[in-house]
Amino acid sequence: MLNTEDFYHVWRIDQTSSLLREEIKEYCHTNIEMCLECGKCSGGCSNAHIFDITPRKIIQLIKIGEEAKLLKMDALWSCVACQLCVDRCPSSINIPRIMDYLREKAYKQNIPSTRPNVELFHELMLGNIKKFGRVPEALLSVEFNIKSKQYTKDAEMGMKMFFKGKLNPIPARVKDIQMVRRMFRNIPAQREG
Ligand code: SF4
Ligand code: SF4
Repeated sequence: MLNTEDFYHVWRIDQTSSLLREEIKEYCHTNIEMCLECGKCSGGCSNAHIFDITPRKIIQLIKIGEEAKLLKMDALWSCVACQLCVDRCPSSINIPRIMDYLREKAYKQNIPSTRPNVELFHELMLGNIKKFGRVPEALLSVEFNIKSKQYTKDAEMGMKMFFKGKLNPIPARVKDIQMVRRMFRNIPAQREG
């Protein structure tokens, strides 16, 4: 169990052992041993004001192998993959890729998202990419509203966009859909249990 002061303690990498750190090196191609603890990622993060654990602290928790805490954090589901942290990082630590990896891990272990309907949205979006090779916004919005039982959510804005020609109600498919499907075959979504 960590105390608040542990977050502010600078951990030397040779004082810690973390399987998660090795996984991240392998799957995210990013070496958190290069982290300088400078905090530029947290300072530049577009959503740090609502994160329960800020990006710099996330890297520290990976260093010391606090996987259970990381897979349950709210920040996992409020990171918008804007890449600002990577742009600012002097060591090019790819935090959005790390967030993706942790989200996948939480999903596979059936650890529920702290944000309602976020998993549903991800599943529908990926389903549409698999079918069409792109995301048809109109179809995705309708599917999401029906499945999340928010039948009239954003309906007024949707109608305005439709009449201005900004929403196409008929989904279009990319030319080489087989290539997209091959990608999905190589990365099957698996859930434990
Ligand atoms: S990618 Fe995520 S962690 Fe990085 S700055 Fe954007 S919201 Fe913050
Ligand atoms: S900006 Fe990069 S080096 Fe600095 S604390 Fe964040 S991850 Fe570490």
